[in-house]
Amino acid sequence: MLKFRGGVHPPEGKEATEHKPIETLPLPSRVLVPLSQHLGAPSQPVVKKGDKVFTGSVIGEPGGKVSVPTHAPISGTVVEITELPHPLTGRLVTTIIIESDGNDTLDPSIQEQNLTELTPQQIIEVVKNAGIVGLGGAAFPTFFKLSPPPDKPVDTLIINGCECEPFLTADHRLMLEKTEEIIEGTGYLALALKVSNVIIAVEDNKPDAIQALKEAVAGRDFRVIQLKTKYPQGAEKQLIKACLNREVPSGGLPADVGCIVQNVGTAFAVRNAVRFHRPLYERVVTVTGNGVREPKNLWVRIGTPVKNLIDFCGGYNGEPQKIINGGPMMGIALSSDELPVLKGTSGILVFNRVPELPEQDCIRCARCIQVCPMGLSPTRLNYHIRAKRYATAKSEHLLDCIECGCCAYVCPAKIRLVHTFKFGKAEIARLKV
Ligand code: SF4
Ligand code: SF4
Repeated sequence: MLKFRGGVHPPEGKEATEHKPIETLPLPSRVLVPLSQHLGAPSQPVVKKGDKVFTGSVIGEPGGKVSVPTHAPISGTVVEITELPHPLTGRLVTTIIIESDGNDTLDPSIQEQNLTELTPQQIIEVVKNAGIVGLGGAAFPTFFKLSPPPDKPVDTLIINGCECEPFLTADHRLMLEKTEEIIEGTGYLALALKVSNVIIAVEDNKPDAIQALKEAVAGRDFRVIQLKTKYPQGAEKQLIKACLNREVPSGGLPADVGCIVQNVGTAFAVRNAVRFHRPLYERVVTVTGNGVREPKNLWVRIGTPVKNLIDFCGGYNGEPQKIINGGPMMGIALSSDELPVLKGTSGILVFNRVPELPEQDCIRCARCIQVCPMGLSPTRLNYHIRAKRYATAKSEHLLDCIECGCCAYVCPAKIRLVHTFKFGKAEIARLKV
């Protein structure tokens, strides 16, 4: 079995939800849909206050070359278009608020399609029009990844079922409950990329999902491979190294080594788009942590306030100290439970006991260097950034940091390494270093 360098083994914390089938969250009475939910340009509103919309109707058109449309997650009335803080960045973004009519009437364009003559370009177009982005967390527009430049020939598609973040089980449940659909979506992705080498990669802590996928690929030329459970196994560069023994160069992309990675949830969304013209307006979210009474996996409409999810899970278990969008290693703390679920929200974690340990001085133990999967020296990067030596940090490959949090996880001095690296990257961009 191939592997990547570095990495850590945090407690998995998945036992609370890994065996729980996905439940459907009741329709929210209103949704808040930010038009910036993906990397790239935000979409631009094409509705106005008072407009009636169906579930799946376009409410925002792509705002640039790397951008996707946004769709109404429920049917009802647009009651407001306003600027609200983005749940993850805090920056003001245009947000469309829709009040439900309670009917969940589907847009008439959503219906089963005649699939006899699908070309790669047609699939890419459908995926773009459906507003699909990477559902593993990065939220990069999927159609763009399916169109690598001609000078970067792609020979392999990797479907990422690792879900290496602790606590999250949304992908695990999807692989068990929508196995055939994921395989069908994988077929469309392979067709769009014109590749025949297809790998579905899953960590070995999900043997039931591996078994289900192996049965579902029977008769197809797809390989299901089992990878060692180690964080961040699901990060693109580490996954490619573990599956193919190829190294994405510094500053490069998977296409530089002939590979494209897509998440299992993305494959499922692609299947729905190609088969039914169903846009991306809902996803699976794991709601868990010691601060929630009944952890669950839920089908959730995009734009649903986080509080609805918590209420459906029995409410808070005590006083919540931290609510996180995503996993504990790479997730972002939310400032309020009124903020909405986004296309990239794989989990909502609630913790009511979070030890806030003060930072100490670096003791030069080098543990951070040993675990960094990108081969960086986090202690040196931290030193340079705090001394405002951004050019030096850049020359020591700060921009290759994938913000996985392995260094901060092992640091005995509890130095806020990832925070520092995010700040350093932002300063490099701001100062054009
Ligand atoms: S957060 Fe960055 S520096 Fe720290 S271990 Fe991950 S890649 Fe390395
Ligand atoms: S793990 Fe923490 S204390 Fe040890 S060298 Fe790295 S930054 Fe310093």
